[in-house]
Amino acid sequence: MIDVLSIASEAYPLIKTGGLADVVGALPAALAPHGVSMRVLLPGYPKVMARMGGGREVAGWSDFFGGPARLIAGRVDGPDVIVLEAGHLYDRPGNPYVTAEGVDWPDNWQRFAALAFAGYELARGVVEGYQPQVLHCHDWQAGLVPAYVRYNAPVPVRTVLTVHNIAFQGRYSWDIFNALRLDHRAAADGAIEYFGGIGYLKAGLQCADAITTVSPTYAHEIRTVAYGMGLEGLLQARAEVVHGILNGIDAEAWDPGRDPALAQNFTASTIVDRAGNKRAVEQRFGLEAGDGPIFAVVSRLTWQKGLDMLVPLCDELVARGGRLVVLGSGDAEIENGLRGAAMRHPGRVGVVVGYDEALSHLIQGGADVMVMPSRFEPCGLTQLYGLRYGCVPLVSRVGGLADTVIDANEVAVEAGVATGIVFSPATEEAFGEGIRRAIALFHRPKVWHKMQRRGMKSDVSWELSAEKYADLYASLLGLKRDDDTDD
Ligand code: ADP
Repeated sequence: MIDVLSIASEAYPLIKTGGLADVVGALPAALAPHGVSMRVLLPGYPKVMARMGGGREVAGWSDFFGGPARLIAGRVDGPDVIVLEAGHLYDRPGNPYVTAEGVDWPDNWQRFAALAFAGYELARGVVEGYQPQVLHCHDWQAGLVPAYVRYNAPVPVRTVLTVHNIAFQGRYSWDIFNALRLDHRAAADGAIEYFGGIGYLKAGLQCADAITTVSPTYAHEIRTVAYGMGLEGLLQARAEVVHGILNGIDAEAWDPGRDPALAQNFTASTIVDRAGNKRAVEQRFGLEAGDGPIFAVVSRLTWQKGLDMLVPLCDELVARGGRLVVLGSGDAEIENGLRGAAMRHPGRVGVVVGYDEALSHLIQGGADVMVMPSRFEPCGLTQLYGLRYGCVPLVSRVGGLADTVIDANEVAVEAGVATGIVFSPATEEAFGEGIRRAIALFHRPKVWHKMQRRGMKSDVSWELSAEKYADLYASLLGLKRDDDTDD
């Protein structure tokens, strides 16, 4: 068994704001059959502490980044977790990253330095009988871990940093350096320096033994100026340790055959039963019945996701017989634009601003087209859920979307391999053309149903990727895995 500690700011089912939580939550079970024992280190937000009733204290400090802190170990709905309980850092309402007003918590630098330092302490053996061999760090919130490992007192551990989204980088001023408890050599070497300040993600990318990102295409994209967001030079320099490993989905939590959030369960062979969910979606969003497809958005409403481009296309979508449901929140301008479309088109466009896990499942099981016109998309899980639930993805050809959806051009339809509609570039014009193609395909029911069923059967599991992570850990440790094959 390889012992891995996964360090992240969110993990489903304890705390989730996006795909990161799904991935961190799913990895331990996905990796277990591959000889990896994975625990997850998380901050003790109120939602997380509420689930840690049966946990036990395994370490504690009287002054940990400005206040007392304890590590609590326990098992919650599956994964083994270790929670950093530090009331002065995490015991506050709202989102892990922002205040109720949507502004970053001003002490985020300290909150996530503390999380990273706790990971380092665990590698130092602060908990008796527990010695992780690999620290698997996720995004900028765990970016300082590899820097602590490299520059503070030596620890027998290797580090992997996974980039789930390079747009979020954790950039702060030098003023915080002394509070980070990081050896001064880290500053002298320039390892954490980023555009004149300190970069948490940059530090991780510089110091980690291996870097992964969540799709092969994104692994290439982030080495280019267009997608690297300032880190492309570093990633080019470290290209030999950068790996693209596609995310999978938690097939238990996302199984249309058993999903309790659906009005009617169905499988690829009982796909006609999807109709019950479509009616439930219509009811929930106040839509009139219709012959055209229901397009759906389940997403953060941001520039990254390209949903500003949907606003001006709503009228045409409706004029062509389509309907639209939106579940999400984010930029006020996009929220308002979509609300405006709902007011102009009652019964045709429905918008729920907010976050609702159960409703997201129902939409996947009842809508016809899952819309993701992202400008960049590291992997994207929503299109994978769409495939699994027969909600045909309409996506831009970027990152993980390019790697997971096969476009229904005539050759692919003829060859029987298409699973969705892929457009490029990520512009309003190409997106509009994608919508028109989706509507046309929907009105070819034979082609459409085959595409739905093919999507439902396509492999979106963790199987292949879990093996790649296990191989990566083993190679970092100089081990050969027993179930290695030569194919
Ligand atoms: P990202 O992590 O960039 O936001 P992903 O597609 O990788 O995008 O993952 C998004 C995850 O968050 C999916 O599980 C999706 O169902 C969920 N999600 C996004 N917005 C909402 C919402 N408003 N309500 C419920 N679930 C949502």
